[in-house]
Amino acid sequence: MKVDVNGKSLELLQGDITEMDTDCIVNAANEQLILGAGVAGAIRKKGGPTIQEECNKLAPIKVGEAVITGAGSLKTKHVIHAVGPRMGEGQEEEKLRSATLNSLRLADKYNLKSISFPAISTGVFGFPMDRCAKVMLSAALEYLKGPTGLERVVFCLFGEESFKTFKEVLSELTSR
Ligand code: ADP
Repeated sequence: MKVDVNGKSLELLQGDITEMDTDCIVNAANEQLILGAGVAGAIRKKGGPTIQEECNKLAPIKVGEAVITGAGSLKTKHVIHAVGPRMGEGQEEEKLRSATLNSLRLADKYNLKSISFPAISTGVFGFPMDRCAKVMLSAALEYLKGPTGLERVVFCLFGEESFKTFKEVLSELTSR
């Protein structure tokens, strides 16, 4: 599914984010920037050791913040490490919105034209998929309506269920 926002595209794909060749991909990181399980684990395995080495020099960061590193041997050029909230810690939606917007701003700062996001916080961190879709998609839509050099924002969803949820939420948000 793909929608046009002021001549820029917001796209939903089902797949593995480490296979994306957008200018950058976003990692669902933790404050210590330790590449453990989930998206981070896949990035570490496929990208090689340099990404963790770069992360070690930038850590720790706060929930809602984002930093950028190279991408080792991945197809993409940069990895943006964004820290989403853990379910139950409070103000989860605001923090997830910040993590999304800070990733987009960082991509712009580096003049990147395309970015791929996973469903941040919905794995190990336990945030519900439908709420994640609402928060992340509204933040991305709003950002694309403003001044940005980004031409393509992709949400790369792992599995049928999350893809379906994001599709439903995007249809709802863009039909208003
Ligand atoms: P968090 O710690 O922020 O919850 P996770 O990496 O555990 O982050 O999971 C975030 C989401 O990314 C989950 O929905 C998970 O299923 C999904 N995911 C896991 N591996 C990949 C991958 N290789 N590509 C895209 N999404 C993935």
